[in-house]
Order: sequence, then structure tokens, then C-alpha cells
Amino acid sequence: MKRKIKKAAVIGSGVMGSGIAAHLAGAGIPVVMLDIVPKDLEEGQSRSSIAETSKKQLLKQKPSPIFNKTVLKLIETGNLEDDLDKLKDCDWVVEVIVENVNIKKMLFKNITPYLNEDAILSSNTSGIPIKSMTEDFEDGLKKRFLVTHFFNPVRYLKLLELIPGELTDPDLMDFMKDFGENTLGKGVVLGKDTPNFVGNRIGVFALANAMRIALEDGLTPQQVDAVLGKAMSRPGSAVFGTNDLVGIDTMVHVVKNSYEALVNDEMRDTFEMPEFIEKMMEKGLLGRKVKKGFFTRDKDKQKLQLDLATMEYVPAEKPDWKCIKKAKEVSDPGERIKVVISTDDPGGKLAWKNTASTLIYSLNRLGEIADDIVNIDNGMKWGFNWDLGPFEIWDAIGVKESAERMKADGYDVPEKLNILLENGETFYKTIDGDRYYFDLIKKDYVKVPVRDNVIFLNKLKSTGKVLAENEGADILDLGDGVICCSVHTKMNTVDDKVIEMLNRAVDMVEDRYEALVIGSQAQHFGAGANIFMLLQAAEEGRWWEVEEITQAFQNANMRLKYCEKPVVTAPYGLTLGGACEITMHGHRAVAAVETYIGLVEVGVGLLPAGGGTKELLIRTLNDNRVAADPMTATQKVFETIGMAKVATSAREAREIYGHLRPTDIEVMNADSQIYYAKQAALSLVREGFRPRRAKETVKVAGKVGYTALILGLTNMLDAGYISEHDMLIGSKIAHVLTGGGVPEGTVVGEDRLLELEREAFVELTANPKSQARIEHMLKTGKPLRN
Ligand code: NAD
Repeated sequence: MKRKIKKAAVIGSGVMGSGIAAHLAGAGIPVVMLDIVPKDLEEGQSRSSIAETSKKQLLKQKPSPIFNKTVLKLIETGNLEDDLDKLKDCDWVVEVIVENVNIKKMLFKNITPYLNEDAILSSNTSGIPIKSMTEDFEDGLKKRFLVTHFFNPVRYLKLLELIPGELTDPDLMDFMKDFGENTLGKGVVLGKDTPNFVGNRIGVFALANAMRIALEDGLTPQQVDAVLGKAMSRPGSAVFGTNDLVGIDTMVHVVKNSYEALVNDEMRDTFEMPEFIEKMMEKGLLGRKVKKGFFTRDKDKQKLQLDLATMEYVPAEKPDWKCIKKAKEVSDPGERIKVVISTDDPGGKLAWKNTASTLIYSLNRLGEIADDIVNIDNGMKWGFNWDLGPFEIWDAIGVKESAERMKADGYDVPEKLNILLENGETFYKTIDGDRYYFDLIKKDYVKVPVRDNVIFLNKLKSTGKVLAENEGADILDLGDGVICCSVHTKMNTVDDKVIEMLNRAVDMVEDRYEALVIGSQAQHFGAGANIFMLLQAAEEGRWWEVEEITQAFQNANMRLKYCEKPVVTAPYGLTLGGACEITMHGHRAVAAVETYIGLVEVGVGLLPAGGGTKELLIRTLNDNRVAADPMTATQKVFETIGMAKVATSAREAREIYGHLRPTDIEVMNADSQIYYAKQAALSLVREGFRPRRAKETVKVAGKVGYTALILGLTNMLDAGYISEHDMLIGSKIAHVLTGGGVPEGTVVGEDRLLELEREAFVELTANPKSQARIEHMLKTGKPLRN
């Protein structure tokens, strides 16, 4: 019988337990979440109050661990004394309680009698050996046991490490890998039962090593973080900031455990706790949760840092180092690292030392913590948000040259590296668009495994599947008659080149293909329209140009909507402004669940005028999502656009705001998005897709509606909630949404609404206050309130 996980249980409802339960529920799996009965139970208090409170907390946490509050319906709470019966119909039970082997063993003993005979049992331990947790198990249970190590925060960190015990059934491992990747949307790394597994073993080493260098070379936390963050293609929280984020107490726990467990590790000394950390613990400087760690802010919100010698807070001065300035000019992550480690200044030296030690440490762990370099690289990218894993970094900086530099600097370069250098030059190479990694045992390159449901657009680009291209986008052949228009501007913003390719794609699909997908594989689907271009035209008074480009974008979107063949959009990440408008004009969206979509034009003093204002109204009213009456629908759209509301997941966009339709599809794993978008396109073809012929119309709220919306705005202005300029923008949006001064109940066509959008857009672009908003956004990335 094929395994399935139809229902799961999470035991422990703390930070990780509640996060795992929320994620499972988000993936559509009903979960039972159990925790202990409170020790000092008060009269009238629920015996399951610990799990119940944790469930309620899910609504308050930031960033939100849930896709939408509706997922909470799938989480049932209970306690470990009265509700063990609830485990009987669970296909997977995951233990997520305190990191203490005896408590975990006791729990397993208590729950085993209640487990279904096929149930999978796992632990989320950060590093307790499987052998010691399972020594009392029958062999049958050992076969069904593994470690499922999620990272915090569960929703946002892609990594899921799966660790088998000696007896774990290999088929079960395959099943859990597939489940982790496809159902939970995780990046699965297969590791071995060694202390701290894969990601934390290398990640904690890199952090601990950086702190040692800081001490030896007298560098401040701010100096270290300025280099070992973005400049080195790692997350901005870098070293000391990451410690603050995770919590100093948690770090101490992990680092101490590492030191105790890693008796034979050649770098064991690195895990010895520096004295300043002990002192921080004594002083309660535990990081962000107490707002005091390596960094804090004074009463004027100025950033301060801990002086590691005196343990006093001093101003956090940014270093004025060449390597940081140079890094800012390089966009390729590997090139950037190369530039920084080659710069002769204190930052460059720090970066080199930390990189050299981490690369060598990673190579020495190969075979010990994981079988291949791919799993180690993925562990660092998915668990620690590094842009490149250690072996990818090694390739980027040149394996041979860097090994020579390491030797010259006295590092102990592993013998193993010679096996690679005798057989090739890099850890990875690409052959015919497929990626291969060097296998040190086979002494040869082996293809990096790829799931059947993944299409790499880059592979298509490098293997002659580009049908058309310009500076804004490519049109690629996805096969089976489906083509893909893939935007590749900076932040995927929409400009005239992108518009040109959208039109080309519609021409091509109508002429000789079956269906069109609009999708890409970058960080974001699109950050909006290119407002720089717009500002230039506006400041130079070229209004006709503003009008022209707006109309061109509207036309392109309308061509998507009225295309003779199915158009499937594939939004993910930031999908704002123009990108949201493109999404709304497709026939179906296949959205990554992590899609942050919204019409945010108000933030730059404008309104959605690529057809977004019109489309959200039509969807809200005609799809009868909110109410059949124009006023209620208009009010809702007015609020969504006026307050620049952004759905924080595809689920919210479908269930609350309407940027996506309830029938649109969500994909948990963004890697498979283009594959499923193609399948959705083909399925529309098979379903006998019929193009729309007649343009849509809406019954608008008219003058009465306009007056009501203006009254609301006036009240907000009087109460000081909005500015005069907000009022002006609001009134323009109201004018468009209510049909432009027509009587209530008038039926208005799409073209008229588009015309109203355009007029309002050009007027607002001409307004100096809107121009100031655009300029501010371009300079700071933040909206200006004026
Ligand atoms: P937590 O302290 O937030 O939660 C621990 C939970 O265990 C609580 O719900 C508590 O009520 C429960 N508990 C306490 N005593 C118990 C007992 N005697 N029997 C049953 N339950 C009991 O801890 P957490 O951070 O959620 O960690 C849970 C597990 O996940 C640990 O094994 C930890 O190592 C691991 N882990 C943590 C992180 C992280 O970043 N926090 C990351 C990966 C793995």
C-alpha cells in the first residue's frame, strides 16, 4: 500500500512545535498538537491550556507563521495525559519537546502504545544521537523512526534535514523526502546521525570562527557584520546580528553541545565558548528578545554595539573599508566574494580567514555529515540563507588558486582536494544545461539529482530554447506547445521592453502555440513598474510619454486577458504594482504560496493604472466574492488599493483580498512552479479553453458611491489619519472605481474604466507631491508620507 500522511501529530507546542503544526496545517494536513498539562493548574484552567495558548499565539507572531488564519481550523489541541488516543489515526507523529534525551525517551515510551502500526515517528532534535533516543525501541519501530530537523522560523526557512537511524527503512526515507519537498515545500537535505547534523555543523562553525577572528584581530561586532553579511553573499544579520536574532542562550547551548560532542573534531577549539559570551549570559544580554545583545539602540534609536573587551555599549560605527565599497558594485554573489577576499584591508583579511577556514572545515566533513557536496551546499543556502554553499564559493573564488593561497598562509588543506584537482578544476560543472558535482569517491562528476516536476528556465536558455529575447524578457519554449515569457530586468520591474515582449508572446502563442506561461525564477516575480523611467518623463513634462506607456501597459494586459489561447501567470515573492496587474490579467494563476502580492501604487503617490484598479473591481463584483451590490464591493476594493494592502501569502490573496481567484492554484515548493504552470496551461487547453470575446462590464456605485467614499476620506483627514495628498489620491481612486461621475447602477465597460485610470494616473504623475514620493522610494526604498 502506498504511504500517505493524511493526518499528523505534533508533540510539543513551543517555538518549533507550534511552527511545525502551523506549516503542516498550511499545507492542508490536519494536525493534533499536544503538550504537557500545566504543572500548577489553576481552578477552571484548561488542562490543554499550554497547547491552546500556543495555538492562539500563532495569530500574533511576526513574521506570521501561518498563510492565513483559516489554517488554524486544522489544528486540534490537547494534552499528553488525556488525549493520547488522538494519536491513533495519525500517520506521522513528530516529537518537538525540550532537548533532553531522558525526557524524550520517556515521552516515546508513553506514546508508543497509542501509535498506529504503520505510523511514522520522528524527532525534531537539534542533535541528540538517534541511537540514544531509540535504544529502548523494538526493531519494528526503529524502522519507522527518523529525525526530521526543521529550522526556525519553520515557514520561512526552506531547510528540512532528514536523518535516518541505522535501521530506518530506506523506502520511508524516500517517502519523507518526497513529502517534505512536494507537500511541505521544503528543501530536503539528507544528513547523517552526527552532532548538529549538516547545516548547524557548518553554520555554527562559520559563526564561531568569525567571533574568534574578531577577538584575535580586535574587530568590533559592527565591523565584522559589515563584511560577513551581504558583502560576502550571506544574510544581512551576518555574525553577531545572527547571534542576537537566534538568542545568545540558544547559541550557548548549541556551541557548548558541539564542544562536548565533537571530541575528535580537528577544530574543536573553535567551539570553546569565548569569555565575553559567558559575561553576556551573566548580564542577561540575550539578544533581540530582550532588545540587548551584541547590538542595542539608545533612547534616540541610535545603534550601539557591545565593546567585547569592556562589555560596555558604544556607538556602532560603520567601517569605511574598501572591500565593502567594492562589494556594493558587484551583483554576482560569487564574484562579490572573490572581490572582498582579495581586497587588502582589515575587512578583506577577515573575509579571507573566515572563508578559508569554513571551506576547509566543510571539505573535512564530507562523508562524515553528508555523502556529497550538494547536500552540504544546500544546507547552508536553505538553513542559513547563504547565496552560495561552501563548495560553490570554492568554485567561484577558484579552487586551485585559493588552495595555493591557503597553503601559503599556513592552512592545513585536506589531501582530498588533490583528488578533485587531478580530475577537474571545479566542484561543479554544467554539461548540456545539466548540473554535475564532483564525487570524491567515484572520482568523477555525477549529475545533481533533479525532481521530475522541476523545470529550470536557465537550462532552457542555455540549450537553445530561446524563441525571442530583448533587454527586458525572454520567450522560452517549455515544450508541448507551451511558451514562457520570462522577465529579467532588475527586480523584474515592468518597462517598455517588458511590455514589448508581453505583446510578442501573445502574438506568438496566438499564431502557433497552445498556451502561454508568464513566469521567471528570480527572487521576485516583480517589484512593480519602472518608476525611475516614469519620474524622468514626469519631471521633464513629457506627459504624452506617461500616457503612452500607461496605455501600452494596459493594452498588453488586456491582450493577456483576451488572448485566444490560455495564459497562466506564475507569481512568487514580491508581486507588486505592475506585476500584480499582469497576474490579474491571466486566465489562471499558479502562485507560489510565498507570494506577497498587492497594488501598492499609492505608496508612490499614484494609483494602479495598468488595468489593476479596473480588474480588482471586476473580480470583486462579478465573481461575487464580497457582495452582489456595487457599493460594498467598491468599498472593499477602495480600501485594498487605498491602503496599499499586500497579501502576505497566496492564501491571503485568494481568501481575503482577491488579487488571486479562489480557483487559482497554490504551489508549496516554488521550484516546481513553472512545471505546474505549464501543466495548468495544458489542462486549460484540454478542458477546451474558450477565449473571451466580449469585453466585461460592471455596474458601478456611481456618484452616490463617490460621495460616500469622499465622506469617509474627509473624516480620516479631519481626524489626522491621512494627509491632504492622500485625500487627493484617494479621491482619484474613488472617481475611477465609481465610474467617473455617472449615476448609481450605470453599467460601465472596461475601456472606460481604463480611460479613467489613465487620466487619473497622468494627473497624479504631474503632481509635485507624487513626484516627491517616487523620488523618495527610489532613494530609500520606503514610502514617503507627505
Ligand atoms: P521550546 O522550549 O519552545 O518548547 C519545548 C516544548 O516542550 C514546550 O512546548 C514544553 O511545554 C514541552 N515540554 C517541556 N517539558 C516537557 C515534558 N517533560 N514532556 C513533554 N513536553 C515537554 O523549545 P523549541 O525551541 O521548540 O525546541 C523543541 C525541539 O526542537 C528541541 O529538541 C530543539 O532542540 C529542537 N529545535 C529547536 C530549534 C530552534 O531554533 N528553537 C531549531 C531546530 C530544532
